[in-house]
Amino acid sequence: MKVCILTLGCKTNLAESDDLKRRLLSKGHEIVDLKDKPNICIINTCSVTAKSDYQSRQLIRRALKTGAKVMVTGCYAQLDEDRIQDISSEIEIFKNDEKSLLLDKIIDDSESTAIKITDRSRPFVKIQEGCSHKCTYCIIPALRGRPKSRPPEDIIDEILDYERAGYDEVVLTGIHIGLYGVDLKDGMDLTGLIEQIVLKTSRARIRLSSLEVIEIDKRFLEVFSEKRICKHLHIPLQSGSEGVLKRMKRPYNTIRYERKVKEIYDRFDNISLGTDVIVGFPGETEEEFEETLRFLKKLPINYMHVFPYSDRPGTEASKMPDKVPNNVKRNRAKRLRELDKTKRSEYRRAQIGRTLEVLQESLTEEGKIKGKSENYLDVIFEKKDFEP
Ligand code: SF4
Repeated sequence: MKVCILTLGCKTNLAESDDLKRRLLSKGHEIVDLKDKPNICIINTCSVTAKSDYQSRQLIRRALKTGAKVMVTGCYAQLDEDRIQDISSEIEIFKNDEKSLLLDKIIDDSESTAIKITDRSRPFVKIQEGCSHKCTYCIIPALRGRPKSRPPEDIIDEILDYERAGYDEVVLTGIHIGLYGVDLKDGMDLTGLIEQIVLKTSRARIRLSSLEVIEIDKRFLEVFSEKRICKHLHIPLQSGSEGVLKRMKRPYNTIRYERKVKEIYDRFDNISLGTDVIVGFPGETEEEFEETLRFLKKLPINYMHVFPYSDRPGTEASKMPDKVPNNVKRNRAKRLRELDKTKRSEYRRAQIGRTLEVLQESLTEEGKIKGKSENYLDVIFEKKDFEP
C-alpha cells in the first residue's frame, strides 16, 4: 500500500506521524508524497489558530483530488468533525484518542520494529500527551486531554531503535513536556527521564522541545549540563506585559522569567534560547505591547516565534472584550519580527570563530552539506570540510 502522511502543526503531531510511518514501513508499506498517487492519505491536522484550521481544510481538499482514501486525524478533526464531513462524507475521521485505530485500520497489528524509520534526520520522540494548565487563549487541553506520560522504558527503547538505525539526534516532544511524569506513580519526572535516557542510550544527542520557565529548576539544570543534551532551550514567554500575562493566566511574571533566562544564559556558554510571543491578545494596549517589545529587547533571547492572537472558540479569551483589530495585530507582529531578525543575526555573528558540532541533514542544490548545529543553527558547508 502506498501511504502519504501529511502533517500540520506542532512537534507532537510530527512525532505521532513519525511513529505511524515507522510502523507502516515495518509492515512493508511504502511512504510516498501526495504527487506519487497514494492509495491512502492520512492528514494529521492542527487547530492552534484559525489559519491552521484553514490549512487543514486545504490539505484535505488537495488529498481528495488525488483519488486516495482520505483519513483525517489531529486537533482539527477533534474540533470540527462536521465541517470536515461537509467537504466529503467519504472522509474517515479519527479523533486524537482514536489514532491507534487508524493504525489498526491499515496494518494488522501495532507491533513495531524500527528499521529505516523516518525521512527526517532528527526524529521526534513523543514522551507525553495533554496539558492540565488553563491558559485562557489555548484550546489544546480541550483537544488533547489531561497529561498522559509514556513509560520511560518505551521511550528509551524507541531511542535505542533510532540509534541502531543510525540516527544521531532525537527531539523529545509532547504537548507539555514539563508535565512529564505527573501521572506516573514512581515519582518520575522530565529530569529523571533525561537522566535515564543519558544512562541507557549511547550516542544520540538529545534536544528538548518547548519547556515552561517554571519547570526549569536547579536539578534540571544540573542534568541539562550533560554533554549529550543540546544547549538549546525554547521557553515560551507569550507577553512581556504583566497585565497581559495575568489575563492569559500564565503561571509566572516577567521578573521570574527574566531571572531564569539570565541564569541559564550565564551558566551555559553560547546556549541558544528561543521563545514564543502572542501579539494582539484581547485588550492588549499600545503601552502593553511596548512593554513586551522593551522586555524582549533586553533579554538574551536569540530567536522568537511571533503569533498574532487568534480566537479559538470555547476558550476564555475568545469571550473577552476589547479585541485588537487585525491591522494592529499585523503591525505589532511585524515590529516584533524585525526584532527577531536582528536577534538572529546578532547570534549568528557571535558564532564567528567558534567550532560547532553539526548534524548533516541534507544536500543543497549546489551540492553543499546542510545541517543543524547543537545550538539550533542551520549550517551550510563544503563537502571537503565534512568530518564523519
Ligand atoms: S501550557 Fe498553556 S499554552 Fe501550553 S498547552 Fe497548556 S494550556 Fe496550552
